Amino acid sequence: MKKYIISLDQGTTSSRAIIFDQSQNMIGMAQRELPQIYCNNGWIEHDPDEIYSTQHNAIIEALTKYDISIDEIAAIGITNQRETTILWDKTTGKPINNAIGWQCRRTSSICEELKKAGHEEYIKNATGLILDAYFSATKIKWILDNVEGAREKAKKGEILFGTVDTWLAWKLSEGKIHATDYSNASRTMMFNINTLEWDQKILDILDIPREILPEVHCSSYVFGNANIMGNLIPIAAIAGDQQASLFGQGCINEGQAKNTYGTGCFLMMNTGKKPCKSKNSLLTSIAASIKEKDVQYVLEGSVFSGGSVVQWMKDELHFFSESSDSEYHACQVKDTMGVYVVPAFTGMGAPYWDMYARGCIIGISRGTKRAHIIRAALESIAFQSKDLVECMQNDTGLKLEQLNVDGGASENNFLMKFQSDILNIPILRPEIKEITSLGIAQLAGLSIGFFKDMDEIEAKRQEITTIKPTMTEENRQELIKGWNKAVSRSRDWIEH
Ligand code: ADP
Repeated sequence: MKKYIISLDQGTTSSRAIIFDQSQNMIGMAQRELPQIYCNNGWIEHDPDEIYSTQHNAIIEALTKYDISIDEIAAIGITNQRETTILWDKTTGKPINNAIGWQCRRTSSICEELKKAGHEEYIKNATGLILDAYFSATKIKWILDNVEGAREKAKKGEILFGTVDTWLAWKLSEGKIHATDYSNASRTMMFNINTLEWDQKILDILDIPREILPEVHCSSYVFGNANIMGNLIPIAAIAGDQQASLFGQGCINEGQAKNTYGTGCFLMMNTGKKPCKSKNSLLTSIAASIKEKDVQYVLEGSVFSGGSVVQWMKDELHFFSESSDSEYHACQVKDTMGVYVVPAFTGMGAPYWDMYARGCIIGISRGTKRAHIIRAALESIAFQSKDLVECMQNDTGLKLEQLNVDGGASENNFLMKFQSDILNIPILRPEIKEITSLGIAQLAGLSIGFFKDMDEIEAKRQEITTIKPTMTEENRQELIKGWNKAVSRSRDWIEH
């Protein structure tokens, strides 16, 4: 009777509902665009009611489109854009402000003040994060400081806070669930990743009343029931999108990692039972978990310009009309003829952390063709990812044996082969594209017995393409040497 799990994948630009069966096959998907609100002053917001309505409509559309009855749904799993912050009135259910998006920098000055007051080190040790406007805590403080009467109401327990998962669970359960999971909590910058509790000292520093915070559980957990058209369906898993993807990739053991090649690249490594402190300013957070009070940790880093370098060649340089055509062009030449592209459009992240760096195309000669530049630009995505992998290996002392990949640009076979060559390890690419949704479906299925255990999940894993390295050590070292030299030329470019 109960044949399916619905994954809700609530992202920055869309709300999606994806249906999986017991063999972990994707049965269907419905998607609604989610508008982002760009305010004149550069702030980035969402309408929380729109987050919910687009998600709810996606569920209904998916069921209708594939002719699936709500009785056939065993559980719902929620995976979501992380950090985005919502506060609402507990009685009326009305948001007291728009959701503050994760990219919104409006609380930078609050972060500067916290740094001046000497709180950076404590926050880093307690939360694993770098003190930054990206995370939820200072966004909450901003709303409490700026919405009239909000802090008083919050102190009286009349206001609730949630990241997007918590908001959706609360709305879907008609106010019965106010909860999140360790993975989402670990990106708020007020959750102590050592004790697995909200950190009272940080709450005091920011004057955030504890009453507004959700309960925190492991990711694979029956949080309560959603009411979908009068039917009660368990919400059986919650996890942040990157952590759900890591789980969906099967990276459940120490030393396993995945890289998502989207606009930017998101690299995440499972570092096991102890939080690993990074010497390279990578972030430490908590993996998707299947037991209460028993978690694994992850290290996280990102490449700022990943697929965006391909988009830049398409939209600005007009080198091709589809991103996927970059593969064809790159394969028209046997190498870059010594050309390197360093796409430091907005500076460089780990391990360089140079915000004054800017992009360069270097090593060009009279014989350089468009194809050489396209090839070099694709290679730059792989070089940057290699730099991050090296940071993680240095921080953890673990050696990566293989890299699991997903995201739009992982479809590019040239890029994946070059990544494998430059890292000198195999690349594993699952056939299924919706790996984040699969991860949350697996976690939901595990908590209600739809999937018996990890062995069953593993046994039913869908097909994976393995791409193996063939490059000689000499060639690899030569290319890496050139890349390092090119990076050194792009650094410290902007006058400051
Ligand atoms: P996001 O989730 O960040 O929007 P996607 O996972 O949809 O990203 O990937 C889109 C990005 O990947 C775009 O920047 C696009 O230019 C790039 N991309 C998509 N397909 C390819 C491809 N076959 N080769 C190279 N780049 C690609």
